[in-house]
Amino acid sequence: NADLALYKAKEKGRDGYYFFTEELNIRAIKLLTLEQELRHALQFDEFTLLFQPQVHIKSGEINSVEALIRWHHPTRGRVSPDDFIAVAEETGLIVPIGEWVLKKACIEIKMLQQLTQFPLKVAVNLSARQFKDPKLETVIKEVLECSGLEPQFLELEVTESMLMDDIQSVIAQLNRIKATGVTITIDDFGSGYSSLSYLKRLPVDILKVDREFVRDIPDDLNDMEITSAVIAVAHKLNLKVIAEGVENIDQRDFLVINKCDYAQGYYFSKPLTFEDLYDYFCKIERISA
Ligand code: C2E
Ligand code: MG
Ligand code: MG
Ligand code: MG
Repeated sequence: NADLALYKAKEKGRDGYYFFTEELNIRAIKLLTLEQELRHALQFDEFTLLFQPQVHIKSGEINSVEALIRWHHPTRGRVSPDDFIAVAEETGLIVPIGEWVLKKACIEIKMLQQLTQFPLKVAVNLSARQFKDPKLETVIKEVLECSGLEPQFLELEVTESMLMDDIQSVIAQLNRIKATGVTITIDDFGSGYSSLSYLKRLPVDILKVDREFVRDIPDDLNDMEITSAVIAVAHKLNLKVIAEGVENIDQRDFLVINKCDYAQGYYFSKPLTFEDLYDYFCKIERISA
């Protein structure tokens, strides 16, 4: 990422090893501004969470929701996570932001469980820095305790690239996390380089097939082969499989036929505000009553 490389260069620039053209300088300053704005956002409550339903694909029943962060910038409006998570990660601000997400997600889902009596789970994305943090286990325990959410209702999403470190320490960290009672999902599976033999050694519960493979179903035969193979292998390893980015009925049908367990995507629902999620459950209740 060119912007991040620049950001690093700017930091080193204080030692006088780098010089900038005017244009590069402006971009570096923008990144430093973004860092300050992220600090401000955390302090002044500019973040919110949306929740995207993850459904049991055969029945269409909602099983869990993925918490997705949103930033309402006072002047720039909505800023997408793709435009600030990387910078937050680079500066280390992702650690307090990630902790905020974890806490907020657990509190809101606990509240929803109490309002609806429905045993809803929540999946929260972890960043690389959070995953590496030796305090993560303690943070998870504290968040569960203060929210009152029982651990079986919390899923943590990690990506393949985070697991590419020394395998022994990765396994140890995954085991520490799992000892708290939460489940672990590998997000964006297939977008990185982990081998299946590597996967076999990791104590994880769910595989989330990357959106890239789902997108061109049913036109791309290769993607269909890969998706059905990943589902079959995952099941052999006793993992559940969820497909992300499911946008149409052809994709849904393909996934049902190939025995995918869960699905998430605009075909089922876009990410919802807490209020909309609550309404959604009230409607289900009225239908089944
Ligand atoms: P992700 O974890 O893979 O999340 C799925 C992304 O796909 C979300 O984008 C979601 O809105 C989008 N999406 C859902 N259904 C569909 C669909 O049918 N079609 C298409 N094209 N897209 C769909 P979003 O919310 O913009 O988040 C982007 C990424 O930012 C996430 O990818 C995740 O890596 C990161 N992110 C979001 N929230 C957090 C967070 O709280 N902490 C961390 N560390 N990262 C986060
Ligand atoms: Mg995710
Ligand atoms: Mg994903
Ligand atoms: Mg993604």
